[in-house]
Amino acid sequence: MRIAIIGSVAAGTSAAAKARRNTEDAQITVYEKDSIISYSGCGLPYFVGGETSDISKLTPRDALWFKERYNVEIKTGCEVLAVDPVRKTMAVKNLATGEEFTDTYDRLILATGSKPFKPPLDGIESRNVFTIKNPQNAVDADAYIAGHQAKKAVIIGGGYIGLEMAAALKERQLDVTILELSSHIMPPMDDEMAARLQQYMLGKGINILTSVRVTGFQHDAGTARTVTVEGKGPIPADLFIWSAGIKPEVGLAKAMGVRLGVTGAIEVDNRMRTNLPDVYAAGDCAQVYSLVTGGPLYRPIGSTANKMGRIAGDVVTGGSLEFRGVPGTGIFKIFDLSVAMTGLTEKEARRLGYDIEVIHNIKPNVPEYYPGSSEMTIKAVADHKTEKLLGVQIVGGEGVDKRIDVFVTAITYGAKAGDLFHLDLAYAPPFATTKDPVLYTGMILDNALNRGRRLMTPRELIERKRNGEKITVIDVRSKKDRDKGFIEGSLHIPLQKMRSGLGNLGKDDLIVVYCNKGVSGNAAQNILINNGFRYVYNLSGGYRQYCMEKSK
Ligand SMILES: Cc1cc2nc3c(=O)[nH]c(=O)nc-3n(C[C@H](O)[C@H](O)[C@H](O)COP(=O)(O)OP(=O)(O)OC[C@H]3O[C@@H](n4cnc5c(N)ncnc54)[C@H](O)[C@@H]3O)c2cc1C
Repeated sequence: MRIAIIGSVAAGTSAAAKARRNTEDAQITVYEKDSIISYSGCGLPYFVGGETSDISKLTPRDALWFKERYNVEIKTGCEVLAVDPVRKTMAVKNLATGEEFTDTYDRLILATGSKPFKPPLDGIESRNVFTIKNPQNAVDADAYIAGHQAKKAVIIGGGYIGLEMAAALKERQLDVTILELSSHIMPPMDDEMAARLQQYMLGKGINILTSVRVTGFQHDAGTARTVTVEGKGPIPADLFIWSAGIKPEVGLAKAMGVRLGVTGAIEVDNRMRTNLPDVYAAGDCAQVYSLVTGGPLYRPIGSTANKMGRIAGDVVTGGSLEFRGVPGTGIFKIFDLSVAMTGLTEKEARRLGYDIEVIHNIKPNVPEYYPGSSEMTIKAVADHKTEKLLGVQIVGGEGVDKRIDVFVTAITYGAKAGDLFHLDLAYAPPFATTKDPVLYTGMILDNALNRGRRLMTPRELIERKRNGEKITVIDVRSKKDRDKGFIEGSLHIPLQKMRSGLGNLGKDDLIVVYCNKGVSGNAAQNILINNGFRYVYNLSGGYRQYCMEKSK
C-alpha cells in the first residue's frame, strides 16, 4: 500500500509516524514544499524574544531522522501541484531543480496546514514586513532587528501570535505598538476579559490602538517606512509584524474536488475522511467540531493538529481511532500573565441562543500568605437548561494552566456546574487554596443556577440602569474601601451593619449588592434573601470587575 501525505509539520509527521507504528507493510511518502519539517511553530516568538537562543532546538528532526526511525520518506522542497483523485496520481515539482514528476497513492492525507491572511496592500511585501509562520520567518525577523538596530516595531493584529510577538519584541527593548481592527485585543475573548490583558500590556509599556484599519505601507527601495492607518495617518517604525489571522491552506484540496466546510477549511468526519474516497485531511487545513455545540469549528492549533494527524495515520492503516471533538482550548503567556480559554465565551453562547448564567470569580492561586501567591480572574458560562458548563476564560498569574485543564476535562465529560465543587482536587499551600478556584467557580454557579443566588454582571447592571430600571445598588464594603471609589448612586451599608440596616428597603425592590470581588456580596445577598427580600443579585466579580467594565 502506498500512503502519500502532503505537508510535514504537526499533522503530516504525526500521521506518518502513527501509520508506521501500525504497519511495516506500507510505503509512506511525505511531500513538503519547505526545507524545514516537523518544527514547533509555537516556539517561534520565544526565539525572536531571546528565551530560546538556538533555532535548531525548534526543529529537532529532519528527513534523515524520519527515514532511520520510521522508514518514512520525506521529500522536502517538493510541492504537490495537483492531485487526480480518480487515477490516484499527484503532479509534483522539485522546487530546487524545477523537475516535475508524477507519483501515485492508494491513500492520501492532506496536511497542508494554514497560511497567514495577507491582503494585497501596497507595501505589504516589503523586506521589513514579517509574518511569523515558520522558522525561516523568525530567523529573518531576528536578523533584521539585529542587523538594522531596530528600535521601533508595529504589530498589525492583536490575536495571540501578535501579542506573543509584542512581548518578544518588548523583551528586546523595542518600542512596540499593536494595531487591532476589533474594539479590543484578543477578539475571540469577551471584551472585559481582554480588557484585563490590555491593561496589563499597557502597564508593560506596549502601545495598543484598537478599532483601527491598516490600509497599506509607505515604502521606498523595498523597505516599509510607515504603516498607514485609516483616519489616523502614517505610523513610522523600523519593522512591522503582520499577524492579522490565518487561513486554511486549501487551494490544492479545492482544485481536486475536496469539499470545504462552512468555516472554509476541509470538511472531515470523525475518521478524518473527506468526501473523496481514500482522501483524508488533518491539522490546520481541516475543520473540527465543537464538543459543546456539536457544530463545526476552525481551531488551527498544534495540539489539535497532532491529534488529527495521529487519527488519520491510524485510520489509513486500518485502526479504530475516532476524533471526539474539542471544546476549543487555547492558552498563551505574555510576560508573567497567562491567558486561557475553552468552550464558549459569553458572546458566543448568547449568539447561539443559550439561556446562560455568567460569573466572574477572582481568587488567588495559592493562599495569600504563601510566597508567590497571585490572583486570577475566572469567567465561567453555564447553561440554565442543562446546568452544564459551557465555557471558561481565565486571566492571571501562576496556576491558570492547571485550572483551565480541569475545566477542559469537566466540559469534555459533560460536567454540570454543581459537579465542580465535588472534585477532590489536590491541596497543600504551595499548590492551591483549600477550596480551589475551580471549586469556588462551581459553588458560585451552582448557587446561581439552583439556589436563587443570582448574579448580575457589571455590564448588565450598567445597561439596565441606562435603560431606566429602578435598581437599588448597595455597597457592602468597609468605609476604607468605599473611600477609594464606589458605584455612583449606590447606598453604603457595610456587611456588619446589614442586618440592622434593612429598614428602608422594600421586599420587592430590585437590589444589587456588591463588595470588592464578590464574597462579601454573597454574604450580604444571603442575609437579604433570608430576610424575605425577593429580588437580590450579587454583582459578579464585585467592584473590581465593575471598574474593568467601565475601563473598556
Ligand atoms: C507563531 C506561532 C505560535 C503558535 N503557538 C501555538 C501554541 O502555543 N499552541 C498551539 O497549539 N499551536 C500554536 N501554533 C499553531 C501551530 O503551530 C499549528 O497549529 C501547527 O503548526 C499546524 O500544523 P499542520 O501540520 O496542520 O500545518 P502547518 O504547520 O501549516 O504545516 C503544513 C505544511 O504543509 C506544507 N504544504 C502545504 N501545501 C503543500 C503542497 N501543495 N505541497 C507540499 N507541501 C505543502 C507547508 O509548506 C507546511 O510546511 C502557533 C503557530 C505560530 C505560527
